[in-house]
Amino acid sequence: MAQLSERVRGLVQPYLAGIEPYDPNFTPCRVNLSANENTYPMPVEARASIDAALAATPLNRYPDPMSNDLRAEIAAWHGVDANCVCVGNGGDELLYNFLLAFGGEGRTLLNCPPCFSEYAFFASLAQTDVLDVWRDKVTFQLDQAAVLAAAPRCNLAIVTSPNNPTGDLAPVDFVRELCAACPGLVMVDEAYGEFADPSTSCEGLLAECDNLVVLHTLSKAFGMAGTRLGYVIAAPDVIDAFGAIRQIYSVNVLTQAAALAAVRARDQFAPVVAHIREERSRLLAGIRTLAADGYAIESWPSEANFVLVRTPNATRVRERMRDEKSILVRDFSYAPGLADCLRITVGTPDENTEVLVALAELVEKE
Ligand SMILES: *Cc1c(COP(=O)(O)O)cnc(C)c1O
Repeated sequence: MAQLSERVRGLVQPYLAGIEPYDPNFTPCRVNLSANENTYPMPVEARASIDAALAATPLNRYPDPMSNDLRAEIAAWHGVDANCVCVGNGGDELLYNFLLAFGGEGRTLLNCPPCFSEYAFFASLAQTDVLDVWRDKVTFQLDQAAVLAAAPRCNLAIVTSPNNPTGDLAPVDFVRELCAACPGLVMVDEAYGEFADPSTSCEGLLAECDNLVVLHTLSKAFGMAGTRLGYVIAAPDVIDAFGAIRQIYSVNVLTQAAALAAVRARDQFAPVVAHIREERSRLLAGIRTLAADGYAIESWPSEANFVLVRTPNATRVRERMRDEKSILVRDFSYAPGLADCLRITVGTPDENTEVLVALAELVEKE
C-alpha cells in the first residue's frame, strides 16, 4: 500500500504520519464483482425520471444544504419526521461525520471486526481510540456478550447489519441491549439492509432508543454508487449535530435531483433487489455444491448482495480470475481474521454463472 513520502510525513499533523491511503486494488475487468455495486441495469422508467430531473436542474445556484426535498421524501418513505433525517455525500461522509462529531481524543469507538475497514480509518482520522470486539473466528457471528460487556466503557459503537464482508445480521434484540449498555450513540450500518428481510432492520428501535443512528445508502440496492448519497435516521437532536458539522454543500444539486427521483421511484427497484436475493441463493448453492464435490471452498450464509468464501491460496485464485477470466472479486486474505477469504458481489445471472465456472476451474480439489 502507498505510504506518504518522508518529507510529507514531517509536514502532516503528527498523528497522521502513519496513514495509508485507501487502496481498493481495482483493475478494470469485464466482470466487476469487487465493490458490492448493483450490476443490474437500472429500471428504465426510474432512469428516465432521473434523467429528466437532472436535465431540469439549474447548475448556477448552490445546493440546498440540508437537501430538504430529498429529506422529506426519505422521511415519508421511512415513516419518520424530516428532522430525523440527514443526508451525506455517500454513507462514508456520514460515517466520518459520526466519528468527527461524537468521537475524538479520549473517546473510544466500539468496533466489531472483521467489518467495514472505513470505521477504524475514520476513527483514526478523528483521533478516536478503537476497542475491537472480534467476531467468532469460525462463524463470524458477533460476540454479543463481549460487546455488551465492553459497551459501558465506550463512547460510541458501530455494528453493521448485514455485515460487510461476512454477510450476517446483528439481531434487533441485541441492538436494543447495546443501546441500553452504551452511554453514547450506537450506529447500525444498514448499507445492505434492503437485501435482508425487512423484519431484521433496527429502524423499529428508533422510537424507543434515542441513542440509535441508522445508516443507509443508495449505493447498493439502488445501484447509484456513483451518485454518492447516503443518509442517517436518528433522533432530531442527534440529526442537529450531523447537520451542524457537515460540509454544507457536500451533496450537490445533481445528486439531490437524482436521489429524489430514485427514491420517488423506489418501488421499481424492488424487483431488482428480489432478483439479486434469488441469485445470491443460486450462487451460494453453487458454491456449496462445489464444496460437496470435493473442492476446497467454504462459504457463509449472507443477507447482503455478496458472499464470502474461503479457499486455499485465495490471492492466487483471485489473480487468476482477474487475469485469465477478467472477473474481479475482492481479496480479503490480508485482513486480520479473514485469511484466504474472497468477497464476491452477487451479479447478474450470467456473471454469477461465470463465477461458478471460474471457481470450478481455479479452486483446488481436496
Ligand atoms: C458501501 C458501504 C457503505 C456506504 O457506502 P457509500 O457508497 O459511501 O454510501 C457503508 N457501510 C458499508 C458497510 C458499506 O459496505
